[in-house]
Amino acid sequence: MGVINRVGCDCGYSALVSAQRDAGTRSVTETVACRDCRELVDVMVAVVGSDDPTPLRRCPRCRGSRLAPWLPGGECPRCAEPMHEPVPVGSWD
Ligand SMILES: [Zn+2]
Ligand SMILES: [Zn+2]
Repeated sequence: MGVINRVGCDCGYSALVSAQRDAGTRSVTETVACRDCRELVDVMVAVVGSDDPTPLRRCPRCRGSRLAPWLPGGECPRCAEPMHEPVPVGSWD
């Protein structure tokens, strides 16, 4: 089961993401910053129980492929300042 975190920034931007490499019952996700729509998003990087090659990494919002890995303490995609610590708000499976 994965965890959903709210990550905020002083500029007012916030996002709901797993904020880490995470695995649900069916998929493995990573949090990335999309340089096209300037959002933090979770992208699926593998399917649990499948030997298929890693799916093409695409932003689920804009379909862009200019994605930068993002970890807690990373830069805000809007203002490039370090973001606040992730706060757990729920879970997914
Ligand atoms: Zn995007
Ligand atoms: Zn910001």
